[in-house]
Amino acid sequence: MMTRKLNVVPFVSVDNMMKLVLHLGVERVMTEIAACIEADFRRWPLFDKTPRVASHSDVGVIELMPTSDGKMYGFKYVNGHPKNMREGLQTVTAFGLLADVNTGYPILLTEMTILTALRTAAMSALAARHLAPRDARTMAMIGNGAQAEFQALAFHAICGIDTVRLYDIDPVATEKCLRNLKGSGLTAIACKSPEEAVEGAGIITTCTADKQYATILTDNLVGAGVHVNAVGGDCPGKTELHRDILLRSSIFVEYPPQTRIEGEIQQLAPDHPVTELWQVMTGAAAGRTDARQITLFDSVGFAIEDFSALRYIHGQLQGTGFFEELDMIADPDEPRDLYGMLLRASEAEPGISAA
Ligand code: NAD
Repeated sequence: MMTRKLNVVPFVSVDNMMKLVLHLGVERVMTEIAACIEADFRRWPLFDKTPRVASHSDVGVIELMPTSDGKMYGFKYVNGHPKNMREGLQTVTAFGLLADVNTGYPILLTEMTILTALRTAAMSALAARHLAPRDARTMAMIGNGAQAEFQALAFHAICGIDTVRLYDIDPVATEKCLRNLKGSGLTAIACKSPEEAVEGAGIITTCTADKQYATILTDNLVGAGVHVNAVGGDCPGKTELHRDILLRSSIFVEYPPQTRIEGEIQQLAPDHPVTELWQVMTGAAAGRTDARQITLFDSVGFAIEDFSALRYIHGQLQGTGFFEELDMIADPDEPRDLYGMLLRASEAEPGISAA
């Protein structure tokens, strides 16, 4: 915990988030966020849980993702606008806040665009560590946009993946990924089709952005024993997998009430059986039980993952200097004299009146 004045809130800008992450190391940060997520998933029943509050438009979605463990409260504001990329903007941007439940005072405000990419990749790799075939060393990465390198590096650090086979409908995205992964320790191979990308892959990650029921993977592309990490389908009407793949898979989810609305399983009956990942982590439910089983992580992103990432960043800040202090909480000497504080400010600033 940071010791600080209560009315001043540490703020981590994009610039400071980049400095902090580079200072610690990208793979280390994702490994440590994965450990925080796992620790929080293991105490799942403690948390307040609600499907995220989504405001949809024709072009995208804006969402609020709150949760609390009774001691701290966190939320993330996040958007998803697939058309943004064509306008030179990010598909996903976010910021988030952590607060002390005891006082209700914020204790951290931070950018979360980079942090979301880190936590999403950490969550994907953590799920795969429980579900993917142990000997998987090759991952197909379909969709080579903003999230892609983070996914590849998290699977390298957490699951021991040494080769990524990249495919995107836009070859410019694949070239960007190849360039960025040089020197990472991963062998990255550009592929011309999804068929070529999945060759020899024990793990298939789909991370595309399109506001429709898309078919990024057809049934014939998913062989026995593969783990599918489906990241891109995360909104009503926005999926990536052919329904037949779902019918052949053991499906693992974060929070069923949210995933049934947003995930690949929106294509299935509302009572189709799924397993909650937190139960796999506590040992209450089985993960992979058979070498020929197709396991599917139907990822949509849940508030507890953001909470874990926020509390991780909060824990790392002390002594680093990678934050600014924001004057965010009004703090009169006498708590009830809020108006008096305003009056005194007007006296201190000639020409400004409180009336
Ligand atoms: P992005 O726009 O930067 O990249 C998406 C990429 O997908 C683009 O390069 C695009 O060319 C490619 N693509 C689109 N259709 C394709 C197809 N048919 N085949 C192959 N490639 C295709 O987006 P991003 O920030 O990387 O996010 C990717 C997706 O992940 C988005 O849909 C986003 O909403 C989702 N997401 C999910 C989570 C989660 O927790 N599950 C978290 C963050 C983002």
